Amino acid sequence: MMNGNEYYMHKALELAKRASDSDEVPVGAVVVNQEGTIIGNGHNQVEAKKVQTAHAEVAAIEQAAQTIGDWRLDGCSIYITLEPCRMCMGLIQLSRLSRVIYAVKSPRFGYQLDNMAISSVYKKDVYIEQGVCAGEAQHVLKQFFQQKREKKDECKKARSGCDREGIDRAAK
Ligand SMILES: [Zn+2]
Repeated sequence: MMNGNEYYMHKALELAKRASDSDEVPVGAVVVNQEGTIIGNGHNQVEAKKVQTAHAEVAAIEQAAQTIGDWRLDGCSIYITLEPCRMCMGLIQLSRLSRVIYAVKSPRFGYQLDNMAISSVYKKDVYIEQGVCAGEAQHVLKQFFQQKREKKDECKKARSGCDREGIDRAAK
């Protein structure tokens, strides 16, 4: 049986896969209200929208605010397949989300939630939990970057093939 956290993280993982299907780094996020209803979905669309702010969390939070007609998301939780970056963590705090649950750590771009004290500007602590469905989320990311590398290698091979043809032609 899946517990609540795993259920919502699976929804976020489905969104992450949607991102990788359109050649985006696979990150997905869902915002869940206190009743347990998903009120916002988002996946990474940085490449499609050609803007660095099009992170999964931003889309999910915007949709959640639209759904409830209020930017104050007190009591709501956000499930993310990857540790949020600084920008998204700032947005999470501004939106007054109560809980952040993420799957895998992002050593390069993550907020490093495990070793950084969250600023208490808003006099409210954000509950943070890490590692929910981490294996699956890691797998989705690994697969994506592996496919990217393979594509790159193919391009290289194709290019060197052309070069060789050029050299052959020149030799004749
Ligand atoms: Zn972000």
